[in-house]
Amino acid sequence: MTQAVRVHGYGGPEALICEELPRPSPGQHEVLIRQEAVGLNFIDVYYRTGIYKLPTLPAVIGMEAAGIVEAVGAAVDQWKPGDRVAYPSQLGAYASHRAIAEDLVVRIPDAIDAPTAAAIMLRGLTVQALLRQVHRLEAGQTILVHAAAGGVGLLLCQWAAHLGATVIGVVSTERKAELARVHGAAHVIVGLDDLPARVRRITGGALLPVVYDSVGRDSFLASLDCLAPRGLMVSYGNASGEVIGVALSQLAQRGSLYVTRPKLMTFIAKRTALEQAAAELFDVVTSGAVRVEIGQRFPLSRVADAHRALEARATTGSTVLIPD
Ligand code: NDP
Repeated sequence: MTQAVRVHGYGGPEALICEELPRPSPGQHEVLIRQEAVGLNFIDVYYRTGIYKLPTLPAVIGMEAAGIVEAVGAAVDQWKPGDRVAYPSQLGAYASHRAIAEDLVVRIPDAIDAPTAAAIMLRGLTVQALLRQVHRLEAGQTILVHAAAGGVGLLLCQWAAHLGATVIGVVSTERKAELARVHGAAHVIVGLDDLPARVRRITGGALLPVVYDSVGRDSFLASLDCLAPRGLMVSYGNASGEVIGVALSQLAQRGSLYVTRPKLMTFIAKRTALEQAAAELFDVVTSGAVRVEIGQRFPLSRVADAHRALEARATTGSTVLIPD
């Protein structure tokens, strides 16, 4: 049997039902993974509530995990039982065992344990895409990073600082501000009030070339106000709700701004791109340039509590779920 968490109908955390299901067996081109750790991501909330639609109901949600290959399909020759692997961004991760296409997983370096791998696959590859592909961050640039003490946030602050950028983080509490500071944010702003003015006080009057905004509805316009003419707004998440109804003239008025709404899958859809991005991610983690902060661990059976904490802004860094 396998322990799995399914959504039978969209709703609150109580919609997450922990069940015993038959253990999957790997198809021809699949590996069966015994999952040691599963990453909790904000996108799981979007799938649970129905902001993002599931292909069928009921469905196992969750996007990333790490573990050990237990069995392989008849046509698989690149993996064998005992290999340590992880994957990002594939719906169906909230389970103790999972069969998944062999091309969707990557090998975990020996120096990275399973909880750490589960904490960084989706979030760390997102940061790789944001800093190296959506915009190639240059040393000397000053950027604004929302939710700077969150899972993506702490990785983003450190990786950007490692690339030589100056990071201004935005968080909601002093405790989170301290955490962002020790993870690479040179300056931290608490709260969204008067955001552009506070940015200008830090920079000596200058506005910014790039803003990374995962908060969405509550912060979008304030973020635009922090951008210099021809600056880039990277709106990559909806933690406070979706951004809708913004007139394009708002971009013109602020000086011909650019906006992008990236999603990770676009950047790792090809196997070679996934491998290259994962190699870069593993490099910055194993070298110590980026430290992985697992702020919370929950048993998989208590995933509803984990969702409650994430939505209540009570988590910091990454959260992992451990199959019971
Ligand atoms: P976080 O750990 O960052 O948690 C979300 C944080 O958002 C909270 O801790 C909180 O920080 C902030 N926040 C602001 N307003 C709200 C609100 N109304 N409700 C809840 N939280 C709020 O989560 P993740 O690291 O998992 O994800 C970060 C963001 O990145 C998410 O928006 C996610 O969707 C996005 N993402 C996008 C991807 C893509 O491909 N585009 C891939 C991966 C993640 P504070 O209290 O400091 O404000």
